[in-house]
Amino acid sequence: MKQNNERIALITGSTGGIGTALCRKLSEDGYQVVGNFRNEEKSVQLQQELDKTGHHIELVHGDVSDFDSVGTMVQHIETNIGPIDILINNAGITRDTSFVKMTKAQWDEVLNTNLNSVFNCTRHVIQGMVERRFGRIINISSINAQKGQYGQTNYSTAKAGMHGFTKSLALEVAKYGITVNTISPGYIETEMVMAVPENIREKIIAQIPVGRLGGPTEIAEAVSFLISAKSGFITGSNFAINGGQHMA
Ligand code: NDP
Repeated sequence: MKQNNERIALITGSTGGIGTALCRKLSEDGYQVVGNFRNEEKSVQLQQELDKTGHHIELVHGDVSDFDSVGTMVQHIETNIGPIDILINNAGITRDTSFVKMTKAQWDEVLNTNLNSVFNCTRHVIQGMVERRFGRIINISSINAQKGQYGQTNYSTAKAGMHGFTKSLALEVAKYGITVNTISPGYIETEMVMAVPENIREKIIAQIPVGRLGGPTEIAEAVSFLISAKSGFITGSNFAINGGQHMA
């Protein structure tokens, strides 16, 4: 079994709240971490922050909603850094509105970014994982895939699709030493949630039994465990990390 420092982990959406926490945690665990970004300015800012705290992370550009862009990104990583052993499909967006007002563009953008991205990224790395007989794939879904959410038919659909993907792929690749799991965070204190108006956020917190939002590091800790050598028997699972808000 290889050591962590011989393994390369690709994290999509690394400039976001959970993505940045994942970069830090996996770097602290000793992995060679590659963070994907789409916005150049945000990547420069992130690189400066990570350098200050001594986290050595390569940042690479790629639009996860675009199959060819991901192909170019993966080729760049595998040529210049090395083979990808761990993939965290974390990039995501919301475009909330009630279904009767939802445009085709809002539907497509959310499905392409949250779900088709999982195909795009996984499809480009899976063959290498099969050949090397090792892989860890984590898909970051959402509590709202499990319970539904007003104004999020697009987002709930995309995130729910990840669960079927996880279970089917887990069946197909278990024999190659590849595990595939989903994490379904509840409400986590990141830009995505802080963009929700304060009065609505207070109502959300009132529904969380632990009485607070989750922290991005709490998601990163779970990912750290699931990709570790200790977790080879866990595959096709969903980890709900939501402060008790939804138990299913
Ligand atoms: P953020 O909005 O903070 O980060 C999202 C990240 O995804 C950003 O880095 C963003 O880049 C990136 N991204 C979006 N579209 C693309 C694209 N086409 N190509 C590449 N990168 C892209 O969100 P969080 O950190 O909160 O969320 C991370 C994941 O966790 C998401 O999948 C989200 O749905 C999920 N989640 C979050 C919850 C929460 O409470 N925060 C709850 C449940 C699930 P850019 O900034 O350039 O747009």
